Amino acid sequence: MTSFPARTQSAIEFAADLLRQSKHAVLLTGAGLSTPSGIPDFRSTGTGLWARDEPLEVASLTTFRTAPQVFFNWFRPLASQIYNAQPNPAHFALARLERSGRIKAVVTQNVDALHQKAGAQNVIELHGTMQTLTCSQCYHREDASLHLGAFVEEGKIPRCTRCGQVLKPDVILFGEQLPQAAWFKAQREARRCDLMLVVGSSLEVLPAAGLPMQALDRGAHLIIVNNAPTYINVRADAVLTEDAAAIIPAIAEKVFNG
Ligand code: ZN
Repeated sequence: MTSFPARTQSAIEFAADLLRQSKHAVLLTGAGLSTPSGIPDFRSTGTGLWARDEPLEVASLTTFRTAPQVFFNWFRPLASQIYNAQPNPAHFALARLERSGRIKAVVTQNVDALHQKAGAQNVIELHGTMQTLTCSQCYHREDASLHLGAFVEEGKIPRCTRCGQVLKPDVILFGEQLPQAAWFKAQREARRCDLMLVVGSSLEVLPAAGLPMQALDRGAHLIIVNNAPTYINVRADAVLTEDAAAIIPAIAEKVFNG
């Protein structure tokens, strides 16, 4: 067992108590959960991806449509990191909490499907997914496993098996709306939960960042585990400004084994 400073330990125990007492806990996760799995946050500064290009410009629907080669050149290293990434201990601990019913829904801003790879079942992907691609011409949807290997290894731009047009990864690019069904589901979960657990999100990207506020407005408790402060820390019941991969397994351990 990792040992923590007394203050961290008591926050872990308090968070575990809240989880144990909740009837409908909902999880909201962001990029910070997957950085220990080697996936950079392409929307934030300080990553190698940002240094080379301007994500707002290149990771946009406009670039995909007008200069697909530029888009795919930018996208390839990110796709490679996601393709090769494995869930970290926090993903596994969260999946265990979900499968046991302690967490009812997993709302994520991540597109890497690491929650699913770790075994989580009810996952709502707010920013889309790397698991499928959709044809920009005939809207045929294809499994990423058919295309991702050749794209990552040889740079082969994925093309529709029906019509030959370029396939767009089903991740939400700048300039695109969130997938409506996922967004409605996430809002419903935020409004009905009695506890929201935020993990690895700095709550800077709207509209996902507003979900904890919706939960609080309905009287839910709030726990935040993130390595940087968020706008809503002052209203949270428990705040752990720490690395999720270290803290979450400790919280789960406490929930299951006291
Ligand atoms: Zn097509």
